[in-house]
Amino acid sequence: MNIEEYKGVWVFIEQIEGEVVGVSLELLGAGRALADKLGVDLCGVLLGHNVKDLSPQLFEYGADKVYVIDDPIVEQYRSETYMKAVGDLVRKYKPEIFLYGATANGKDLASAVATEVMTGLTADTTMLDIDLEKRLFEASRPAFGGNIMATILCKKHRPQMATVRSKVMKMLDPEPGRTGEVIEETISLKEEDLRTKVLEIVRDASKKVNLAEAEIIVAAGKGVKDAAGFKLVTDLADVLNATVGASRDVVEAGLIGHEYQVGQTGETVTPKLYFAIGISGAVQHVVGMSNSETIIAINKDPDAQIFNAAHYGVVGDLFEIVPMLTEEFRTA
Ligand code: FAD
Repeated sequence: MNIEEYKGVWVFIEQIEGEVVGVSLELLGAGRALADKLGVDLCGVLLGHNVKDLSPQLFEYGADKVYVIDDPIVEQYRSETYMKAVGDLVRKYKPEIFLYGATANGKDLASAVATEVMTGLTADTTMLDIDLEKRLFEASRPAFGGNIMATILCKKHRPQMATVRSKVMKMLDPEPGRTGEVIEETISLKEEDLRTKVLEIVRDASKKVNLAEAEIIVAAGKGVKDAAGFKLVTDLADVLNATVGASRDVVEAGLIGHEYQVGQTGETVTPKLYFAIGISGAVQHVVGMSNSETIIAINKDPDAQIFNAAHYGVVGDLFEIVPMLTEEFRTA
């Protein structure tokens, strides 16, 4: 492989029912910075049916070019069609860096494409950079239970690929009227060549929360002790019109479902306001919430690690402080 031939930063544009998912726009922001450093184009890769109209939005968010495959066969995500189509594009155009959102489909596709074109992949990254001198992409992610950040390099193969968690990179402010080039491509597969078929898409009715999109999160830790203590936290969340979050210990205690868990093995969140109530601040929790705009911690232990991550801290008993806050906000 002549790695010098590979040029350009690519972002896989995930769309669901004709709407671009947020992480793809965030990756255009991150990709723009990488492309500018390298002095190359930023390209989106968009697959679907009747999706061409999404290209102007991608230019406004930073793309210079968009490769589009608009075909009923790629209307819904399927590993075998997307892997073949994206693999063919990679072989044809040879991008240097290729980013995917760490969504269910993005993770599936990135690993399939890595196998298809025989390159490496760094999964679940939270930091991206370039070593310009060596022209190497640096993809970093928490490792060893979140205790260190590992920077992973792909020295001998191209493209250098990463999946990136949502809400970690910043979307650019859209630039209305910014334009670029649309490159229409086709897919060589036919429906009868395929082994899989999407029969029906059933929405997960149980997942009522969308922690990743929440503006205010009131999160409970083991300090709440039991259901009565947990109710104090949900009461505060109610008056603030906030979403409830939880540490893993609270989830494991059965006080709330896993979909509310914040942290390394839960959701990564970036609300405007995050209350950490009775949460010690273990690194596996903090890695999921440290990018919140404002963090307020309530803990009776003045040495609790959560105070290192918090912008404001209240040292005291949550059983006294939380009901007072709830009352204060209720009457405000
Ligand atoms: P504790 O650490 O027990 O802290 C309870 C806190 O409450 C203490 O600081 C205490 O001072 C305070 N407190 C007690 N009583 C009161 C009171 N009356 N008033 C005020 N404060 C009080 N954890 C996550 O949260 N999310 C994850 O995604 C996650 N993933 C993990 C992945 C791996 C591989 C591993 C090994 C661990 C993971 N953990 C995760 C677990 C993590 O290491 C911690 O065990 C967990 O976050 C601790 O939860 P906690 O802060 O609620 O409980």
